[in-house]
Amino acid sequence: MDKSLYDILFEPVKIGPKTAKNRFYQVPHCNGMGHRWPKSMAEMRGIKAEGGWGVVCSEECEIHPSSDLSSGALMRLWDDSDIPTHARMVDKVQEHGALAGVQLVHNGYSVSNRFSRIVPIAPTARAVRYDDPIQARGMDRSDIKNLRQWFRDAARRAVTAGYDIIYVYAGHNLTLLMHFLSPRYNQRTDEYGGSLTNRVRLIREVLEDTKEIAGDKAAVAFRFGVDELMGAAGIRCADEGREVVHMLADLPDLWDVNVSDWSNDSLTSRFGAEGHQEPYIDFVKKITNKPVVGVGRFTSPDAMVSQIRRGDLDLIGAARPSIADPFLPNKIKQGRADEIRECIGCNICTSGDMLSVPVRCTQNPTMGEEWRKGWHPEHIEAAGSEDKILIIGAGPAGLEAALALSNRGYEVVVAEKAAKTGGRLNREVNLPGFGEWRRVVDHRRHMLNQKANVNIYLESDLGAQDILDFGFPHVVMATGATWRTDGVGRENHFPIPINDTPVFSPEQIMDGVMPEGRVIIFDDDHYYMASALAQMIHDRGGEVIFVTPAVKVASWTENTLEQHKIQADLIRRDIPIICGQTVIAVTAGKFTLKCAYTEAKTGIEGDSFLPVTSRQSQDSLFDQVMTRQDEFVGRGVTSVTRIGDCHVPSTIAAAVYHGHLYARGLDNPSDQWTDFRRENQWL
Ligand code: ADP
Ligand code: SF4
Repeated sequence: MDKSLYDILFEPVKIGPKTAKNRFYQVPHCNGMGHRWPKSMAEMRGIKAEGGWGVVCSEECEIHPSSDLSSGALMRLWDDSDIPTHARMVDKVQEHGALAGVQLVHNGYSVSNRFSRIVPIAPTARAVRYDDPIQARGMDRSDIKNLRQWFRDAARRAVTAGYDIIYVYAGHNLTLLMHFLSPRYNQRTDEYGGSLTNRVRLIREVLEDTKEIAGDKAAVAFRFGVDELMGAAGIRCADEGREVVHMLADLPDLWDVNVSDWSNDSLTSRFGAEGHQEPYIDFVKKITNKPVVGVGRFTSPDAMVSQIRRGDLDLIGAARPSIADPFLPNKIKQGRADEIRECIGCNICTSGDMLSVPVRCTQNPTMGEEWRKGWHPEHIEAAGSEDKILIIGAGPAGLEAALALSNRGYEVVVAEKAAKTGGRLNREVNLPGFGEWRRVVDHRRHMLNQKANVNIYLESDLGAQDILDFGFPHVVMATGATWRTDGVGRENHFPIPINDTPVFSPEQIMDGVMPEGRVIIFDDDHYYMASALAQMIHDRGGEVIFVTPAVKVASWTENTLEQHKIQADLIRRDIPIICGQTVIAVTAGKFTLKCAYTEAKTGIEGDSFLPVTSRQSQDSLFDQVMTRQDEFVGRGVTSVTRIGDCHVPSTIAAAVYHGHLYARGLDNPSDQWTDFRRENQWL
């Protein structure tokens, strides 16, 4: 590869009084750690800087207790006592020559102030955004004056902490500044409401105030959602979004532009491709003389270069690509772009923030473990022995274990019964919109192909005797799991009676089998599988009814910011959705449903049954080996370990993590699951 093609990505960019050493810009992103696990957060940001990002920003940072995002764990600059937490992160980032940025925010009516108990505020009185049964009060002029002072105070603290870039944030419609801008939320009749000039007034004032405080010590960035993707009901880049850029053109030192809301900004690959924001944000650079950063799940250096050359962006923004591979910039610089662990756009990472726990990533098992476990994405301890390891199964768990073990220097053999590596993913990439998930396999296979200490044998269906014949000291079972077809899941604790009705498994549908007639899909899994199969069958011309005991379709995908889009997709396809009902029996095409609330029973009719309820580990080989344990010990086998779905069926992220955990812990006597540091601020 010609490294010089990418030289343009390593040019410095002046941002106000500061200069970024290159164009790689880690935009603000949540991580579920924030003020609650600040050492973990700082270490994670520091590793991004080490990996070559020219700018590394914090997540949202609440400027005042009236913007209290509890029970979430974001950053805070409520008072001076918060400064050291930020200074720690700034030091970690600047240590590697990167600029550190902080995203100051007031969230207006998008918070319930569950911890501070302060009455939420909004441009106009209204119910708070989330489900809490409380309202936000409309702000008077003294509130606006106070708000400006809070922004000034927070900016001053940010300067004291040493930040190079201070954000004024209206990037998502969760922010008070966006609430002032939008007629949906702002029905004021004073100088802050009505005309666009009036609705922009507060943003302008806060930008001016922040610039005054920042002086020559820090640059001021403005993060702005130029389009809410809701047509005339919201801000659009075709009219007011564009107008705002004209009105404030050269006021900020940097424009960070995106589409709103968060689910459109952090769009999953199921719903959009790399660079999907370009048509909305490409106008900005034509209006302002200041540098522009934007995101689009960029992982391809060629796409990055073309964004710069086409004049769309000055800086390549990234949140998820920097989570999946904190060393993405360095790999490009060193001519190792083929080694980038590309983000697959699954949004397991956003689930950390949504559930208020540290971020994890499907592609990068070290994410969130940098401080807790001392894991580094690019370094791993050398092998502690010359033991050989036999891994059975080349799905996500087996492949990650093989890669991490080989990085440690161990000699590894992988036996896979299928004709290709990939395990469950070989099927799941056939689901509509799941093609990018292939990267989990592609990356690992590519890296393993370069290893002299790894041999992969395909079409090798190993039995207990084969394992014995290998005689390797360590045996790893990564043989995966299969979907149950007996209805057992969260609601049904025992197999349900199914008579005279064809039953299909998710695997069969993914393999292309097409059930005849009306298919009753019963989703007691609540993640992506059932809805994706419903789309698949429908799009092949089949008829589907979607039944779930939950109150909505694919309810867990709230955490991956997809639920709304998935339900809308099924509705648009006219797929009937029956919520709050469990399939408890099927006889000759008659399905008995039990109400989740009253236990009342009703019936529907269908021609075939597709339960998506739970999975069972394929661990019979493990059991066979265990029954011959003495024989195995006698032949020098010292450990037999199940990992990934063979151990317990879970997400792909969990399987990758388990494979990595196994590899790190192979010669470590401590319990790898519990061996992590805790942040106890009282000690
Ligand atoms: P995980 O997500 O835990 O990695 P997968 O189901 O994706 O699990 O992958 C398991 C892999 O193990 C599959 O590719 C499957 O073909 C393979 N496998 C299962 N049993 C055997 C066996 N006895 N010998 C070799 N490979 C096996
Ligand atoms: Fe990308 Fe998925 Fe990792 Fe998030 S969890 S960074 S979307 S691969």
